[in-house]
Amino acid sequence: MKIAVLSRNPRLYSTRRLVEAGRQRGHDMVVIDTLRAYMNIASHKPQIHYRGMPMEGFDAVIPRIGASVTFYGCAVLRQFEMMGVFPLNESVAISRSRDKLRSLQLLSRKGIGLPVTGFAHSPDDVPDLIRMVGGAPLVIKVLEGTQGIGVVLCETEKAAESVIEAFMGLKQDIMVQEYIEEAGGADIRCFVVGDKVIASMKRQAKPGEFRSNLHRGGSASLIKITPEERMTAIRAAKVMGLNVAGVDILRSNHGPLVMEVNSSPGLEGIEVTTSRDVAGIIIDHLEKNAEYGMTRTKGK
Ligand code: ADP
Ligand code: GLU
Repeated sequence: MKIAVLSRNPRLYSTRRLVEAGRQRGHDMVVIDTLRAYMNIASHKPQIHYRGMPMEGFDAVIPRIGASVTFYGCAVLRQFEMMGVFPLNESVAISRSRDKLRSLQLLSRKGIGLPVTGFAHSPDDVPDLIRMVGGAPLVIKVLEGTQGIGVVLCETEKAAESVIEAFMGLKQDIMVQEYIEEAGGADIRCFVVGDKVIASMKRQAKPGEFRSNLHRGGSASLIKITPEERMTAIRAAKVMGLNVAGVDILRSNHGPLVMEVNSSPGLEGIEVTTSRDVAGIIIDHLEKNAEYGMTRTKGK
């Protein structure tokens, strides 16, 4: 197969591993810098150009679209889809996953366990919003945050009110969430490919910290997930319409709660922690599923 990898940087671990795994299996792997692809959308024959050349003959495209280039990246991916090229994850599914509120609304509609979460625009509604999610302690999250930045634990309602007002004053959209204390500063990353969890790891926050992000000093280790956690991760990916997803789960005393479904999950942490050939499994999935013109809107 001829496979495009949409990535800003061929030297990134995930990009390198996908290229390596594809080449090992005899595929022609081409890394395309997402922001350097340009296109003619009005033509009756949709095209993408790259460094002066039309991109042609691709069987599949692997999007590795970072949060900061979601808008343009999804447009490039959509253009590949219009050309009939099979996407590992579809552009619609990626853009819906990048909107945290929309994602939680869709997951909740399908009965997936979530932390109680509230959202408001006006400072006048803050006191009732806090009551709605069960009062302090609670977690406040900036909607566009990643890597744990913009996630704040407020021990008291007074503190929560001040933090929410501060974010609102800065015109930052936020959500307010019940704090799952019994998770003990840990979460579980389930790596879903197709309809299977192919690897999972536990991430534990460093002492004195509740955010388990590796970027915030958290550490990763192997974990055996329960059948309920496995089902939850698979269903969450399916609701989002993602073939490949990193589903982050908190262990609460009333079962697994989904925090986030990531549409470009990194490979380094999960491969190093579990010694699984995740990149190879992704390429195998494309070999089995990539078919010309097989893009359709998945997810509910
Ligand atoms: P980001 O997308 O920036 O990583 P997350 O929503 O994943 O933000 O939150 C970062 C970390 O904070 C999580 O990995 C988890 O360890 C912790 N955390 C987030 N929300 C909660 C919550 N409601 N209760 C307990 N811990 C939480
Ligand atoms: N399939 C979903 C619906 O029709 C898509 C909604 C969305 O992605 O936000 O409701």
